[in-house]
Amino acid sequence: MKNDNKKRDRAGLTDKEKEKLREVLLENRERILDNARSGLELSMNRDTDLGRDSIDESTGEELLSTALRLRDREKKLLDKIEEALERLNEETINECEDCGGEIGFGRLLVRPVTTFCVDCKEDREVHEDMAEIGHRRAPFKE
Ligand SMILES: [Zn+2]
Repeated sequence: MKNDNKKRDRAGLTDKEKEKLREVLLENRERILDNARSGLELSMNRDTDLGRDSIDESTGEELLSTALRLRDREKKLLDKIEEALERLNEETINECEDCGGEIGFGRLLVRPVTTFCVDCKEDREVHEDMAEIGHRRAPFKE
């Protein structure tokens, strides 16, 4: 076995930066879970409101599919956050999955779940999801 001198050719993150990223990731995770909870309450309220009269069947299906789609996206994002926390522990969070280059701290701060450097950004979709969830109060709004 070779010496276990870890790859340190990257600048690496300081402890302070890593702490900040962990904070951001945990905040985002909390926000998604909060959204999921309030979304659930909202859908239950709606059900009682709409259920008083005959509910249009297609409206009901639409609501359900929106709810499921959102839940699926939130779940994916939660997975991404867990992965990012893992990479943070392994100190590979700033390593581009594609080219192996360094992902800058500033970029990680804005997109902590990214696994690509700015040149390889293929995470646009995920990032948009996070931004959307972050700004939206009512997940079931069309
Ligand atoms: Zn790259």
